[in-house]
Amino acid sequence: MDILILALVIALVAVGAISGLVVGSRKKKQLPPTAPPSTPTITAPPAEPHVGEEAEPGAQEPRRTIEEVVLPDARTQAPAAEAPAAEPEAPAAPEIEVPEPTAGRLVRLRARLSRSQNSLGKGLLTLLSREHLDEDTWEEIEETLLTADVGVMPTQELVDRLRERVKVLGTRTPEELRALLREELVAIIGPDMDRTVKTESGVDTPGVVMVVGVNGTGKTTTTGKLARVLVADGRSVVLGAADTFRAAAADQLQTWGERVGARTVRGPEGGDPASIAFDAVKEGIAEGADVVLIDTAGRLHTKTGLMDELGKVKRVVEKHGPLDEILLVLDATTGQNGLVQARVFAEVVDITGIVLTKLDGTAKGGIVIAVQRELGVPVKLVGLGEGPDDLAPFEAGAFVDALIGD
Ligand code: GDP
Repeated sequence: MDILILALVIALVAVGAISGLVVGSRKKKQLPPTAPPSTPTITAPPAEPHVGEEAEPGAQEPRRTIEEVVLPDARTQAPAAEAPAAEPEAPAAPEIEVPEPTAGRLVRLRARLSRSQNSLGKGLLTLLSREHLDEDTWEEIEETLLTADVGVMPTQELVDRLRERVKVLGTRTPEELRALLREELVAIIGPDMDRTVKTESGVDTPGVVMVVGVNGTGKTTTTGKLARVLVADGRSVVLGAADTFRAAAADQLQTWGERVGARTVRGPEGGDPASIAFDAVKEGIAEGADVVLIDTAGRLHTKTGLMDELGKVKRVVEKHGPLDEILLVLDATTGQNGLVQARVFAEVVDITGIVLTKLDGTAKGGIVIAVQRELGVPVKLVGLGEGPDDLAPFEAGAFVDALIGD
């Protein structure tokens, strides 16, 4: 009997030990999935989840395997986990360029002007310096002005003024002549015209600038350069790529924007320019941007077509508030043709400022005078090259100095 009881006790102990082993082995089987030793993301510093969103799934795992955190070998893997995480961060921050300051740009770029404008400024000075200012010489002076696209009326006015003043002067020293010519050219260009590009709305919404002009004049380039001018002056900018007609225009504008950290609102190719312009201003308001610049398409197919298109863009944008500036971009090398374009655009929208591009590539700087006269609107900016900062605020004095030298 005793033997029987002893056998029973032994049997029970044996069963208990076996079942304990089974439970224990189950526990061990459960561990590996929750504690994979090869999960470096687990030990990644808490900073990592802040850096990349990909850390989410891994972020769950540390809670399951607390002991993993303190495992020495896991810790040694931490730097390895950090290294690849740091790399994708670098390209995420695009390189933002710092544009050149805008003050004095025209003076810095004057060499570009004087190179192409010698026939105007220096030519006039040479003629005025002749010993005998006879009728033929005055005719040559007139011819020089007309060739430089100054325009018939302003040329006549200038010649009359110069004649009068030279007569009064009597003897002429080169310095006196230079000073006299400078004064008269500056006067006819208009030193007192307000040439500030209006980029402040006066309320707490962004200033809105619309850029118009015939395609090929440098409109998109100018919009991009203007964004840089504004950024250089400490303003934040949103770009509206409403030139949906020219295939590459939106990409081109976006590239300009990215270089200075300005967002570009764009739509599908051939999309509705007005709705893109509307969205751009909406984005500008949402972002709290200082200025919204809207590039438009300049198809001179028919005047009515242009009027419909630009008129609609303007009307739609004005649902947010009034436009602060409408800049007309004109290619200075196109001379009379440019003036014809200016007239058409002025009939379609109220131009408030002119941008003369490619002044580096023409000797016909007189277009500044002619186009202001034609539209009664100031030249506010001039393009002096293809470089990103080759757009300068226009100043009458600096312009004339570049023409005649000082
Ligand atoms: P859009 O069709 O009017 O938008 O014209 P783009 O902006 O594409 O410019 C047409 C061409 O003119 C490009 O090759 C520009 O680099 C060039 N361009 C624009 N402004 C100037 C300038 O001031 N000087 C020179 N030399 N080229 C310019």
